[in-house]
Amino acid sequence: MVTARTRTFIAPSPLSLKMTTTSETHAKGTLFSISSLRTHVYDVICIGSGWASRPIASRAVAAGLTALIIDKDLMGGDCPFWACVPSKALLRPSEALEAANSVGGARERITKPSVDVEAVFARRDAFTRGWDDEKLLVPAILDTGTDLLRATGMLIGEKKVDVSSKDGGTAELIARHAVAVCTGSVPTIPDVPGLKEAKPWTPREATSSSKVPDHLIVIGAGAVGCEMATAYSSFGAEVTVISTTAEILPKVDHEAGQLVRKSLESRGVKFLLQTTLTRVERKGDASVLVMTSSGVSITASEILVAAGRKACTSGSMLEIFGAPPAGNPVEVDESLPRQTRRRQQLVLRRGGHQRPLAPDPHVQVPGQDSGECHHPAS
Ligand SMILES: Cc1cc2nc3c(=O)[nH]c(=O)nc-3n(C[C@H](O)[C@H](O)[C@H](O)COP(=O)(O)OP(=O)(O)OC[C@H]3O[C@@H](n4cnc5c(N)ncnc54)[C@H](O)[C@@H]3O)c2cc1C
Repeated sequence: MVTARTRTFIAPSPLSLKMTTTSETHAKGTLFSISSLRTHVYDVICIGSGWASRPIASRAVAAGLTALIIDKDLMGGDCPFWACVPSKALLRPSEALEAANSVGGARERITKPSVDVEAVFARRDAFTRGWDDEKLLVPAILDTGTDLLRATGMLIGEKKVDVSSKDGGTAELIARHAVAVCTGSVPTIPDVPGLKEAKPWTPREATSSSKVPDHLIVIGAGAVGCEMATAYSSFGAEVTVISTTAEILPKVDHEAGQLVRKSLESRGVKFLLQTTLTRVERKGDASVLVMTSSGVSITASEILVAAGRKACTSGSMLEIFGAPPAGNPVEVDESLPRQTRRRQQLVLRRGGHQRPLAPDPHVQVPGQDSGECHHPAS
């Protein structure tokens, strides 16, 4: 996520005086549509409502400023609906069962060897409140005094944001102090013939599905691929993980990857490592045929692409602040800010999408991508 702010904003400002949020006395925020907006001017405007933006907005309000968060999808971003929360809700039951299974005295009381899949999905649905943000994140954000707007936002100039909604509404908003671009990331779909046309699952479908494919092929052996391989194998699916890397979880120690792979293999998960997809075909019966560089072809019922993500910054006009063009990361020093040619400062804050230049694993150094910026299933 990137915050663009002027130099005048860096001087002692209310934002730097207080970092805590919720105990302040402030009025509750309001959930707006474009036509119901009461003002077009806020001190701080955040585009995107995920983890990267909410602390910015709530701290601004706690410091006595006004803040607006704009989102085109569910308020709360990926984490509560399609990422951290549902994935852990899907994983926890089999973890608990395995733990009980490893302890004599508890093990003897286990009457069924595997999880109750319907109950696992119901538990996940309870955590996501059935993907109804007005039962979950909307009230929590409004409680911080932040206003919310359901719309697509685009930076159109210094501290200027254009908003548009599906019903045709548009408006131009002004930020007195700062606009925070907190637009997260979208899955990367590798450029393999037939893959996009096959309409593969992304992590969004994998975390929200209530069906278990008989055979799931997972492309990518990073954290998300391994989590979904773990979850779906615990639901009884046959799972095959295909990765170009020599070991799974390539961003962690080799030994750790090996341990996780052996554990997954003991559950029946199959791995094709150092393997590239050459072609994918969705067949008439909805099955998926996957051809690989090693000559192995597999037919499965579903394919999940968990092969990395790209910053969702296309259309955000960050280039007007001197950010590099499509796909290139913003180069920063260890303290993260970056002066730009327009004497603005891009301030990199904690966010989701990670790039190699970031020294902290939770800091996002955004680039721009040329692809359309949308969540595939939305
Ligand atoms: C399966 C899975 C499991 C994960 N598990 C964990 C975990 O256990 N722990 C962890 O720390 N991280 C986990 N992550 C990563 C975590 O979900 C992300 O790091 C986090 O959601 C990123 O937050 P964000 O605010 O940067 O972006 P997001 O949560 O993606 O929010 C961005 C928001 O911006 C909105 N938006 C985009 N463009 C516009 C626009 N032009 N106008 C208006 N709105 C816009 C989007 O609709 C979205 O709501 C997981 C990810 C996945 C996929």
